[in-house]
Amino acid sequence: VRCDGIVQIYKAQDVEVVALRDVDLVIDEGETVALLGPSGAGKSTLLWLLAGLLRPSAGRLWLDGADVSRLNQRRLDRLRAAHIGMVLQNPARNLIGYLSAAQNVAFAQRAVKRDRPRARDLLHQVGLSDAGDRPAGRMSGGEQQRLAVAVALANAPKLLLADEPTSQLDEESGTRVVELIKRAAADSGTTAVVVTHDTAVSEALSRTVTIRDGRVGAEGRSGEDFVVV
Ligand code: ADP
Ligand code: ADP
Repeated sequence: VRCDGIVQIYKAQDVEVVALRDVDLVIDEGETVALLGPSGAGKSTLLWLLAGLLRPSAGRLWLDGADVSRLNQRRLDRLRAAHIGMVLQNPARNLIGYLSAAQNVAFAQRAVKRDRPRARDLLHQVGLSDAGDRPAGRMSGGEQQRLAVAVALANAPKLLLADEPTSQLDEESGTRVVELIKRAAADSGTTAVVVTHDTAVSEALSRTVTIRDGRVGAEGRSGEDFVVV
């Protein structure tokens, strides 16, 4: 992943909000990045851009050698379905409520022809072995959040983007989700960018990136000192 001078401006009526100002960022394959920063800093915006759900107002975004900011919509949709997994902050929005847990996983795999994880294994890894047949819409927030992570990893994505994926989980479930993300990185080379306020999560990932007021500021790789500027 490479961001070159990314600017994101939202226009609402007459007001312009500059959500990202000239963001440069390189994330290597298999890195697991915790994206930190105060509310309104631009974390979700960066995630949406990386997911191809927003087009940058300026700058370029590269994924795996492809200039995503210039792809046409059809190619972008295909790239997203095949290579990107996303966990939105609101877990229910990741899921199709009337489909079972297993069907939600299967749906995420529809565009993937290569090797992909087995639905049963994914559900087991997020602690939902017994929930395979239940409609996602009837699950608790925590269950939906865990299912959303399983769904996001179901296409063995090159890029996993997750917005506070452990916010409704207890410590044990949260740890399991983080372990699953790390395993995807280690086994499949999945690159992960995880917005989190949970220090247990950020400490377990390989690197920290902080955004403040639309700018990427202090960065650190775990194990190194990092300076807050
Ligand atoms: P964070 O995820 O760090 O809380 P966001 O990316 O959600 O930050 O927001 C960054 C800035 O952009 C904020 O000032 C927010 O109000 C604004 N913003 C986010 N989404 C929109 C939108 N759809 N329209 C207008 N402004 C937005
Ligand atoms: P929520 O944060 O309400 O649970 P999501 O996780 O689905 O919702 O969305 C995350 C962020 O994406 C929100 O903070 C919002 O600012 C931004 N967002 C939502 N819809 C859009 C959109 N259509 N275009 C741009 N940004 C959006």
